[in-house]
Amino acid sequence: MCGIVGYIGANGAVKEVLLNGLSKLEYRGYDSAGLVCVENNRVFYERSLGRVSNLESAVVKSKVLKLIDNKASFGIAHTRWATHGKPSKENAHPHKAGDIYLVHNGIVENYKELKEALLTVDGSIEFTSQTDSEVLVHLISSKLDSNPRRSMVEAVQSSLNLVKGTYAIVVLNIVSGEMVCACNGSPLVLGIADDEGLLVASDTVALIGYAKHYLRLADGDVVSLSPKEYVFVSGTDKEVLELEESGQTSSLGGVFGHYMLKEIYEQGEVVDRVVNNKGQIYDILPKILKAKRLIIVGCGTSYNVGLVAEYLIERLSQISVEVEVASEFRYRDMPMSEGDVAIVLSQSGETVDTLEAVKLCKERGVLTVGIVNVEGSAIANACDAVIYNKAGREVSVASTKAFTSQLAVLSMLAIMLGECRSSLTTIEATNLMSELSNLPAVLSQELDRMSKQMEDLAKKYGSIENIICLGRGVQSAIALEGALKIKEVSYINAQAYPSGEIKHGPLALVDPNTLCIILAPKDELYTKSLSVIEEVKARGGIVIAITTPNGKEVIQSSDGVVIVPSVMDELLPFMTILPMQFFAYHLALLRGCDVDKPRNLAKSVTVE
Ligand code: GLU
Repeated sequence: MCGIVGYIGANGAVKEVLLNGLSKLEYRGYDSAGLVCVENNRVFYERSLGRVSNLESAVVKSKVLKLIDNKASFGIAHTRWATHGKPSKENAHPHKAGDIYLVHNGIVENYKELKEALLTVDGSIEFTSQTDSEVLVHLISSKLDSNPRRSMVEAVQSSLNLVKGTYAIVVLNIVSGEMVCACNGSPLVLGIADDEGLLVASDTVALIGYAKHYLRLADGDVVSLSPKEYVFVSGTDKEVLELEESGQTSSLGGVFGHYMLKEIYEQGEVVDRVVNNKGQIYDILPKILKAKRLIIVGCGTSYNVGLVAEYLIERLSQISVEVEVASEFRYRDMPMSEGDVAIVLSQSGETVDTLEAVKLCKERGVLTVGIVNVEGSAIANACDAVIYNKAGREVSVASTKAFTSQLAVLSMLAIMLGECRSSLTTIEATNLMSELSNLPAVLSQELDRMSKQMEDLAKKYGSIENIICLGRGVQSAIALEGALKIKEVSYINAQAYPSGEIKHGPLALVDPNTLCIILAPKDELYTKSLSVIEEVKARGGIVIAITTPNGKEVIQSSDGVVIVPSVMDELLPFMTILPMQFFAYHLALLRGCDVDKPRNLAKSVTVE
């Protein structure tokens, strides 16, 4: 969500630095982009709707806004994910007030009050956008106007004192070259450029190629930047870290048409990586073993992983588990005690609701364990302990391999807890572990077939506008995740219910234009799933079933079937999720959707 890049230094090709940085941040999801920069004493300012490539074309044709006398090169750039005001050129950042320009990630919650107060003092201020962010730049400018002896950094500080909400901002005076950045609840990193200068960005990936060292700002930091130094005006100086480039980039490599497909195919590999890094789970085990209750917190796909894990952990280790949506958890005032351990899941490690949930748990004295994909991210830093799920960079907005790798971590944890608490025998635990280690080999033989079958079914049923995904037991969580994938990438209205719930309402929706995807592997709940298939068929609904080779009755009674390999019941979710992911992908492709960057969605959700 939203990308910020800023640069100040000696590199004369500042437009290139900024545009390269924005391209690397594209994966986060955005709707418009913009930049302002000074190159060879000339000022350029462009904004455009849509992709960074549109901005690039606009910049190529861009005229010089004005000439200034400043030898340094500097500029700020932004990809916006609209929260206040529709996606449009006028609402794109940077916003300006005189010579002051600003890019902002986050939400200024009290922007209306601030705007009214500004207009009361000076009715001539012209607001040209509908955004909350524009208020900030006028506020800073008015502080400077009211006291010309004030430096820009002082104006920024006193403006931020009035702000309620979250922000990562970079403010630039295009004439003096003063640059200030600050953050609170939204991430920001400072890169030390290889040649002289500094970069500022919302994610380290934007620094690659220009900096080998960086520091991560903390909430409340305000930093003044010049080509030669950075000064913490609020907050304390931070440790300089080495930039890890490996695993930060990903390319399609000419084999796959989309990252989503590539990442579905990488799921065997990621399970392998988790299994080979079990040491990090063992290290944390003693702390989790003491738990009376586990609270798993996440959003979207991470929440669904939590639901799968709830079944597994309770079944294998008999520890009670609560799974919470992070955005609700933080406002629920849930009773917590020292016997609780919170396991928080976030692919990006930046999800703001999950980060706030971590803070809440810590305030209540609850131990926090993060399962995070991005090393050094805000949630990884905030938690008492971290397990990295090592999925590698996930580019597709719709998460697939992160789901599987988080699930691999939690499955191993469930098995280890079970063995330590003697609810599993050593033999049972060993068998489960070895089956888990064997999953990558099983997967590699089956993916092509499943993809082809789901492509055929997508061709057959791709015009359907209503899908209901159903599953029983742990498969109800897979139904939820499958429906989420379908919604995200194909924009089809897909609902999910535990199968047993269908008679309590959703059955009213079933007619010959409704497709029901029923997860019915031959597990202990198989006969229950069979009944649901019959109930749907009796109402004229279309049934695609996902089952195992021995699910003969299901195969006979469904309109379409995909067979997943038989593995131990506890590990079946690793198999049943695959056809769901493939189906969503092929539906999206057939319907001409932007598979990797679905409309309205962002990869890392850094606003509430
Ligand atoms: N709230 C701001 C806007 O709607 C910033 C959005 C963002 O983080 O991209 O312009």
